[in-house]
Amino acid sequence: MSHYRVRVERNKLKFAAAHMATFAGQCEPLHGHNYAVSIEVAGTLTEDAWVADFSLLKTLGKAICDELDHAFLLQRDSRVLEIDEGMSNWKVRFGERGFVFPKSDVRALPIDNTTAERLAEWFAGRLRGDLQARGAANLSELRVEVEEAPGQGACFVVDLGR
Ligand SMILES: [Zn+2]
Repeated sequence: MSHYRVRVERNKLKFAAAHMATFAGQCEPLHGHNYAVSIEVAGTLTEDAWVADFSLLKTLGKAICDELDHAFLLQRDSRVLEIDEGMSNWKVRFGERGFVFPKSDVRALPIDNTTAERLAEWFAGRLRGDLQARGAANLSELRVEVEEAPGQGACFVVDLGR
């Protein structure tokens, strides 16, 4: 069966966020990126010769970007950071470095690190749910790329099993 791919990217699919990823037992300094997201879906054509409505992909993608925009992205499931959830703050500690973030400024994500790879995986999982809630039964694959900087990104591909 023929498959087609459609892609939306960059224009409005952006967010600016702070994070500190960990690597090899170390923790980056707190810093931020102007992230850019690309979304690609593959599938068969509907009766109207669509794979997916570009505007729907952009709308769903932008809503997820907006959730992350101007926030600190916390890897809630980190095995390296000490993380305590209080009533109104998240306390994050790495060795001698300690941070207290008001909850309103934090997006606590169920991931073990805030790498572009994990952010792409999380984003794809959210978008998959949103797409399935809208039908989209003709789609066979969803691919999300998260770029930390132009030309520096990671992709996650979800096989939708069709
Ligand atoms: Zn970074």
